[in-house]
Amino acid sequence: MARITERKEITHVDVEDVLIGRKCDICGKDILPLEHDHGYNYFCIATHHSDWGNDSIESWEYKDACCPDCVMTFTEAYIHKAFERHVNSKEIEIKHCRSLGQGSPEDY
Ligand SMILES: [Zn+2]
Repeated sequence: MARITERKEITHVDVEDVLIGRKCDICGKDILPLEHDHGYNYFCIATHHSDWGNDSIESWEYKDACCPDCVMTFTEAYIHKAFERHVNSKEIEIKHCRSLGQGSPEDY
């Protein structure tokens, strides 16, 4: 069966998930970019300890928080948990981050 063809330019459309915001790990609120926020509209929280030497690398955990109140809520609970478990060293890093930027954990 002979086919007649014509050479045409065809545009392929790729569909993929694109980052449009984040969710606060503490209160669940959506963290969406503001129009004039210069991008810095949430807090990246990284926690870890150094109780086991080099193995402590496994202790790193990352959270996103929408506001200072959520940062404080998380920090208070984290410190209480550390006291209950008698952990020697608890470290918390808090950075002001851009919701459409790299964010956690890539920022660390
Ligand atoms: Zn929140």
